[in-house]
Amino acid sequence: MSEQYDVIVVGGGPAGYVAAIRSAQLGLKTACVEQWINKQGNPALGGTCLNVGCIPSKALLESSQLFLNARDQFSDHGIEIDGVSANVPKMIESKDKIVQELTGGIEHLFRANGIEWIKGSASLLPEREIEVAGDSGKTVYRAENIILATGSNSIEIPSAPLQGDIIVDSSGALDWQSVPEKLCVIGAGVIGLELGSVWRRLGSEVIVLEAQDAFLPVADQQIAKDAHRQFKRQGLDIRLGARVMSSEVTDAGVKIRYTDSSGEQEISVDRVIVAVGRRPNIDKLTLPEAGLLIDERGLVHVNDQCETNLPGVWAIGDLVRGPMLAHKGSEEGVAVAERIAGKHCHLNYGAIPSVIYTHPEISWVGKTEEELKEEGREYKSGVFPFAASGRAKAMRDSAGMVKLLADKQTDELLGMHIIGAHSSELIGLAVTVMEFEGTSEDIARTVFAHPTLSEAIHESALAADFRALHIPNKKR
Ligand code: NAD
Repeated sequence: MSEQYDVIVVGGGPAGYVAAIRSAQLGLKTACVEQWINKQGNPALGGTCLNVGCIPSKALLESSQLFLNARDQFSDHGIEIDGVSANVPKMIESKDKIVQELTGGIEHLFRANGIEWIKGSASLLPEREIEVAGDSGKTVYRAENIILATGSNSIEIPSAPLQGDIIVDSSGALDWQSVPEKLCVIGAGVIGLELGSVWRRLGSEVIVLEAQDAFLPVADQQIAKDAHRQFKRQGLDIRLGARVMSSEVTDAGVKIRYTDSSGEQEISVDRVIVAVGRRPNIDKLTLPEAGLLIDERGLVHVNDQCETNLPGVWAIGDLVRGPMLAHKGSEEGVAVAERIAGKHCHLNYGAIPSVIYTHPEISWVGKTEEELKEEGREYKSGVFPFAASGRAKAMRDSAGMVKLLADKQTDELLGMHIIGAHSSELIGLAVTVMEFEGTSEDIARTVFAHPTLSEAIHESALAADFRALHIPNKKR
């Protein structure tokens, strides 16, 4: 048995490393167990988000969009460049450099905060103990509090088992050294759309097979419809109601068989990305004798405070209920650290923003119009298209709209849905207003800088009250 800790965090992703940093800031003796070995063969902090998720995908989304702009859009600005080409290995190398800088940054933060990084893979034992299997064998550690934050793994499907660099999950699709001529993406969710966009921009012919009949059912459907139209225009061939039955890797590529409303279909492609969701990573985490309660969806059962059924054992991030989003996990990490330190902390699950980093970006917070209808809540809505925004026009990037939803009686902001350039940055404004329980009138009375994209948010609030200034208003 080694030394005693106040807090041991299991998992060094955005939920776990943030929980460790906040715990250490609050004066708690903290360690974090992380087993990740990066593609250079070195131990790394940062989890999926930094190593093979949010950050590398954004790096490639940025590079591929710049390539597309240079090839197709610069001439609209009067900039003529001949022979634009994409050097894919260099893009991947540049992405890897960013990942290494950021994961190294977390290591630096751990040192600065006096957090011990225990390298290895942890299993939860009874009585707030964990066993870590590392290079030097197995060691048991004990802590007053254990925070479980082991994240999630890609779901694999029997009809398309992963195979080398031919049939890959999201991690594999971040490391291809060449552009597949023909690519099939299974799943039109967040990952499928983001990675499908990367490779489409770099030149692949992309077919996206989605099992559900509805496109982006989690998003507001007016926004989803606009997104679908725009992705189609970009050349993403999205086929809905398409269930993959089997895949066969041949010398010529991959044959995918699927069924849709008109029967059995077959396509031949060079490579496949499987992006059908993620599931909590609990396989090695807990031994039966530890007695940790897992719910029917395979999630670690927690209450509103992220407490598991075991005293002193907490769970956060993708392991527990709620959206699988890095920022949700991080805020749970802060909240749990503060609760352990005896502070009061509240996390508003009703105001967690979602973003899909396609172009245009799709961002939202709060309720969709469909949810409000289902709840029978009376609401008003205001929509403002970026086509009427001077800044968006000047950027030659005026696709999309802002849609605001507010309570009909109290005017409280209930939801905001934005499809448009940089909407991931704009949505923070709506989150803040919701956190303050603000109204659409509060937004309407706020002065926004001109010319900015955020003026579209202002105008959407004015539109909800039939007084938008830069579009004709619908009749009351
Ligand atoms: P997802 O749940 O967003 O989408 C998966 C899609 O695959 C669904 O639409 C589902 O209907 C479809 N599907 C499932 N089985 C299928 C099958 N056999 N054939 C065809 N389609 C099938 O999951 P994801 O895109 O894999 O992302 C996983 C998680 O990671 C999500 O919770 C997501 O929010 C999170 N994530 C977030 C971001 C971001 O915030 N930008 C980026 C990446 C991932």
